[in-house]
Amino acid sequence: MTNTEIVNFLREASIKASTQRLAIYSYLDKYRNHPTVDTIYNDLIGDYPMLSKTTVYNTLKLFIEKGVVQGVIIEDGEMRYDANITLHAHFKCKKCGSIHDIFMSGLQERCNFEGKFKVDEIHLNYRGLCDKCCGE
Ligand SMILES: [Zn+2]
Ligand SMILES: [Zn+2]
Repeated sequence: MTNTEIVNFLREASIKASTQRLAIYSYLDKYRNHPTVDTIYNDLIGDYPMLSKTTVYNTLKLFIEKGVVQGVIIEDGEMRYDANITLHAHFKCKKCGSIHDIFMSGLQERCNFEGKFKVDEIHLNYRGLCDKCCGE
């Protein structure tokens, strides 16, 4: 997404796109590796010296509330962030720690449970070895 596209996308979700918010969303849009607050902060602080970890945290909280980002919990007590807001599962490699998206067709429909529930998020995590680590 370009910066203009992001500003419009955030505006549609009633979020004012400050420079820092724009930087954080843009980061998540670019890096789909499910970063933590610490990772995002450490990667952005060089370009945005005024940024604080609290701002990163609060911005992500706002993004989740407004539904433009989803929170992903793969390990206890560690929130990760995903700009992909479709329902999908995750795979974590036990060896290198990389986290991958797993898209299953019909997941949304199957999670609907015959119209009884409206599912907003799922936390479905697989573990094993990624393709890189399998070959080693
Ligand atoms: Zn791996
Ligand atoms: Zn994901």
